[in-house]
Amino acid sequence: APQVPEIRTTCAYCGVGCGVLARPDGAGGLTVRGDPDHPANRGRLCSKGFALGETLSLDDRLLAPRVSGQDTSWDAALGLVADRFSQTIAQHGPDSVAFYVSGQLLTEDYYVANKLMKGFIGSANIDTNSRLCMASTVAGQKRAFGTDTVPGTYEDLELADLVVLVGSNLAWCHPVLYQRLAAAKAARPAMKVVVIDPRRTATCDLADMHLTLAPGSDVALFNRLLVEIHKGGAVDADYLHHVNGFEETLRAAMAQDGGATGLDPAQVAAFCKMWVGTEKVVTVFSQGVNQSSSGTDKVNAILNCHLATGRIGRPGMGPFSVTGQPNAMGGREVGGLSNALACHLDIEDAGHRDLVRSFWQAPTMANGAGLKAVDMFERVRTRQIKALWIVCTNPAVSMPDADVVRDAIAACDFVVVSDVTANTDTARLAHVLLPATGWGEKDGTVTNSDRTISRQRAVLPAPGAARADWAIICDVARRMGFGSAFDYASPAEIFEEYATLSGAAAAVGRDFDISGLTGLGQAGYDALPPTRWPVAAHGQAERFFAEGQFFTSDGRARMVPVTARAPAARTGPRYPFRLNTGRIRDQWHTMTRTAKAPRLNQHLGEPFLEIHPDDATAVGVAPATLVRVTSPTGSCILRALVTDRVQPGQVFAPMHWTAETAPTGRIDALVPGIVDPLSGQPESKAAVVALEPY
Ligand code: SF4
Repeated sequence: APQVPEIRTTCAYCGVGCGVLARPDGAGGLTVRGDPDHPANRGRLCSKGFALGETLSLDDRLLAPRVSGQDTSWDAALGLVADRFSQTIAQHGPDSVAFYVSGQLLTEDYYVANKLMKGFIGSANIDTNSRLCMASTVAGQKRAFGTDTVPGTYEDLELADLVVLVGSNLAWCHPVLYQRLAAAKAARPAMKVVVIDPRRTATCDLADMHLTLAPGSDVALFNRLLVEIHKGGAVDADYLHHVNGFEETLRAAMAQDGGATGLDPAQVAAFCKMWVGTEKVVTVFSQGVNQSSSGTDKVNAILNCHLATGRIGRPGMGPFSVTGQPNAMGGREVGGLSNALACHLDIEDAGHRDLVRSFWQAPTMANGAGLKAVDMFERVRTRQIKALWIVCTNPAVSMPDADVVRDAIAACDFVVVSDVTANTDTARLAHVLLPATGWGEKDGTVTNSDRTISRQRAVLPAPGAARADWAIICDVARRMGFGSAFDYASPAEIFEEYATLSGAAAAVGRDFDISGLTGLGQAGYDALPPTRWPVAAHGQAERFFAEGQFFTSDGRARMVPVTARAPAARTGPRYPFRLNTGRIRDQWHTMTRTAKAPRLNQHLGEPFLEIHPDDATAVGVAPATLVRVTSPTGSCILRALVTDRVQPGQVFAPMHWTAETAPTGRIDALVPGIVDPLSGQPESKAAVVALEPY
């Protein structure tokens, strides 16, 4: 029989945003290959992407709405959700309800959820798990540039003469981007790669230099670099005409004690010399920078060095944040965070709120920022939030202080969970479960780390009664009485409205402009190729800021004086070890999809703790035996992986396992709910723990 044609779509996992060619196999599954025409991956896929077709079994799928554990109709379930939210708002006000959503949502899902909460319910209590991922980058870029703008593109990593990877295990967490970097270095061996990470990760295989800096000391290192930039004559005086704050920032950097990094001074000097002496330098940063109580300052310490040298927005130069989730960037653009509005408009700006109010014809516009994730779940715990809708994420596992968050959700008056499965630690706590379509069934757009908007296309039919998230949210909105504002027939209609709003946002000086994508119609939307924004009516640009022109009131960037701060939790006799957490190569988040693929489970099959040989000896833990890990907030039992990949005094554990997959391995139960004061991002990589043989 002739094969059905391949359908172009986008990988469900990380922020690299690889294009996938998917073909239904006729038995409910798919075969996949990398899309050679997608600019992010040019045909490549990583292990997770190649296994996408193996994660689609319907074994544990949620196929019908459930209320109190019983299958029911959509009509009954949505009527109950709308009634309970409406009653709670009427009795206790709009801030007594909240939505907690996900960087796995498509942009169109995100848009209507934000519109409902911020424009029609009248609260900004909608936050996203992207808060745990790169909220510090958002805050740092807004401080420096006036907007949350990624200046460069993936090509810059290939064009650079020096790529510095800070707090990024690119080889495991963004594998295809790592492959591109490795290929560029192989073709041009003079290119240098530096890895800055307390841990020796797989990414170090590519490194000419690895700096095992002390946890949390990134600001000290980049302040030192700024001083060396000044001393080495690399400050770009012409570019500083576009920048405020150089003198104060340099003074703050000079005032700092240089010893805080824990590094050999000769190695720091060699790194600074390399950076100062290389014009084409890209500094890539990820969760090691973001997930910190000083994450925003760390981001600004990096941006300061690029602004001082004018090495930004030109080919092969610039700071570059890589995001965790497939649509983390789309969520930022569409106002998915509680302190943002769609199209990079600012919820704290009365003029921006008015613009959106009038565009949406919103009856009850939120009048300021809502609760960030950690504060939101604290309000759930204290029963001030009485109705909570969790969409496409698993906070009972992934939030810091996860045991407390799990218990808070369990005690909440009314919890709705939309997901593909009922078998998550969070879904088990729901009063109402709503079956959502998943990857392969959904239709919409995502944005990757280099501003490329790609279509995710439905390749398979929705199973059972599952529906798209945007359709579920709009149906609840209509039942709450918000009628025609949510009367969309398709994701294409939502995208059209969003693109139109972006034109209005650009007219008041915002960077996010996709007004050139209005008027696509259904056919144009269906055929939309990967497209990097901005796409204005008058044209497109590859990079930002080469000529200055920042999105601040005076058009100039801000260098921000920053001072290094140690992680908030302090080691001591009771909790002598520093716990770092992160991803492994072949699992994704809380494993609801990737654990279905046998070959992905073969890589690392159980939760473990990397511990230095000297520490293992000191605490009496033999290789491959069990170790109890205790923090002030919780306890886990993990398999000891004795290795000098970690420094003495530091341990590392992956974050994926859940009560379902490893009851003693819920790592985020050990992480305290300490956050960066500006971004609200939790310090997920610097808990303190005690170890003992189990
Ligand atoms: Fe998917 Fe990321 Fe792998 Fe690309 S690099 S195939 S987007 S997981």
